Amino acid sequence: MKIKSVDVIPLRIPFEDGSPGVGLMPTKWTMLDFVLVRLETENGLVGWGDGFAYSCRRATVAAIEDMVAPLLVGRDVSDIGALNLELQQRLHLHGRYGITVFAISAVDIALWDLKAKSEGVPLAALLADSPRTTLPAYASLVRYGEPDLVRSFTSKVVSEGYRTVKLHEIALDAIEAGREGAGAATKMSTDVNCNWSMDQAREILPEMKRLDLYWVEEPVFPPDDAATLGALQRDFGVPIASGENACTAVEFARTAPAIRYIQPSVTKVGGISEFLKVCDLAERHGSAVMPHAPYFGPGYWATLHLMAARRNCEQFEHLYIEPAAYLDPSIPLPEKGTVAVPDRPGIGFEPDPAVLDRFRV
Ligand SMILES: [Mg+2]
Repeated sequence: MKIKSVDVIPLRIPFEDGSPGVGLMPTKWTMLDFVLVRLETENGLVGWGDGFAYSCRRATVAAIEDMVAPLLVGRDVSDIGALNLELQQRLHLHGRYGITVFAISAVDIALWDLKAKSEGVPLAALLADSPRTTLPAYASLVRYGEPDLVRSFTSKVVSEGYRTVKLHEIALDAIEAGREGAGAATKMSTDVNCNWSMDQAREILPEMKRLDLYWVEEPVFPPDDAATLGALQRDFGVPIASGENACTAVEFARTAPAIRYIQPSVTKVGGISEFLKVCDLAERHGSAVMPHAPYFGPGYWATLHLMAARRNCEQFEHLYIEPAAYLDPSIPLPEKGTVAVPDRPGIGFEPDPAVLDRFRV
C-alpha cells in the first residue's frame, strides 16, 4: 500500500445531552470535536481514521499535519505495526504519550482500514477467524449532577433495553439515585474521572460495594498509579477500571496486572496496532478489556471490529447523547443493549460528504 496523500479534516458537531451543564469540561460541553484522517493509496483506495480531539482539536490537527504526515506520504506500508513503532521512535522527542500518540492513532486506524479494504474483508475478519457479529453495549451517561435527573435518565435507558449503564457521577446521592432508576438487575458503574481524593475514595468505596457497582472508573488521580488502584480494589472489593488516558501497551503493562478492567481508547492508545497489544496483555494477566469509545467517528467503528475479534473485550461504550448529525448515517447504534458489527470491507466507515461540508471547521 503506497500512500499517495494524507488529508486532515477537522469538524465540530453540536449535540444535546439533557444535562444542566455540570459535566466534565470547564464550561458546558455542547460540541463534539473530530479530527478525521483520509489516506489515499496510489491505486485509489481510501482509508479513514481519527485521533482524539475533545478540547484538543487544533493540537491533534497540527500533530498529524506537521509531525506524522511528512513521514508517511510516499511510503509503501506493508507492516502497519512496524510503521507504528517507527513513528513512535521518530517522534519520541515530542513526548511518548498524549497528542503525539493521538496523531499516530489516527493514521494507524486509517492504515488498518486500507489493509482490510485491500483484502476485501471487514477488519474483524482480518483480525480473527470467527469474529462476533453483535456485541453487548452499555449506555454511558453524561454527568447530570442532580439526583432527579440521574434517576430519570437511568430509568429511561433501562426502559430502552440497556442492561448495563455507566454514570459519570461522583457524589453519593447522585449514584444512589442512579441505582434507584436503574433497578437492582441492571449492571451499573460510575466514572469518577479522577475527582476523588484518597480520603474521599476510602469513604465512598464501601458505598459503591453496597450499591453493587460493576466497576468504578478512574477513582483517584493519577489514573496510572497501579499500586494505589490495585490496593483500593483489594481493600474494598469493588472492581476498578482505568486506562482511557494511557498510551501504548507499555503504559498498560503497569495497570493490567493490578486492576480488573483496563480501558484502551483506540483514538488515544496508538490505534489498532497498540489496542491489539493491550488485549494480549489483558489476556496474560487475567484482566478484562472495557474499551473507551465515547465518540462517533472512525474510532467508534474500529472499536466494534476490535471487540468482535477479541473476546476478552466485554462491553461497548455508547455515549448517550444526541449529535446533530452522524458523520456516517449508517452508523450501527445500539438497540436494546446490543450493537451490530459493520460488515462492509475495512472498518466500514464511509462519511457523508454533505455532513463533512456542513460541520467542517
Ligand atoms: Mg472514563
